[in-house]
Amino acid sequence: MQFSRLRLTGFKSFVDPTDLVIARGLTGVVGPNGCGKSNLLEALRWVMGETRAKAMRGAGMEDVIFAGASSRPARNFAEVCLTIDNTDRLAPAGFNDADQLEVTRRITRDVGSAYKTNGKDVRARDVQMLFADASTGSTSPALVRQGQISELINAKPKARRRILEEAAGISGLYQRRHEAELK
Ligand code: ATP
Ligand code: MG
Repeated sequence: MQFSRLRLTGFKSFVDPTDLVIARGLTGVVGPNGCGKSNLLEALRWVMGETRAKAMRGAGMEDVIFAGASSRPARNFAEVCLTIDNTDRLAPAGFNDADQLEVTRRITRDVGSAYKTNGKDVRARDVQMLFADASTGSTSPALVRQGQISELINAKPKARRRILEEAAGISGLYQRRHEAELK
């Protein structure tokens, strides 16, 4: 699956609608300290279903909503939309009926998160499984956070195993087994 576009509104420092085109090949994001480079990577992880506020460097998930600045009031919601080029039809079954797959997550204060794929309401789990099966997702080892390399070196064996399982693309299966065992 090829990510082709990332759009943000009210997400962290990206208060105004921002449209990032992700071309094939290598994309570099450069800019001075504090300009929002890490926020962009977090937006990508968030739209794929991240549930840990800590991974977003916040205390609660609503901290991803633009919190206001001296000249601008805070927002009530944040939205991130990821466009996936699906012309090669690599998206998993159930998401594979169009050339483009658009995944949207919106969080509203005091309401929480809502997800859509191609405009249709879906559950958080559907989005998480969509990316888990595609070996990407919010905990994918393809997304390397600032400071994560040293964390990996210092990780306990169990945590390191989880990273390897994700890289091997079997974490979706674990999640399904866990759910089956609960039934
Ligand atoms: P560095 O080069 O230091 O790693 P960076 O480009 O990765 O910097 P980020 O960490 O992505 O920068 O952005 C930090 C900025 O985002 C800070 O100015 C911070 O105030 C702002 N920010 C984070 N969350 C919010 C929020 N909810 N509302 C408004 N601004 C926010
Ligand atoms: Mg950074």
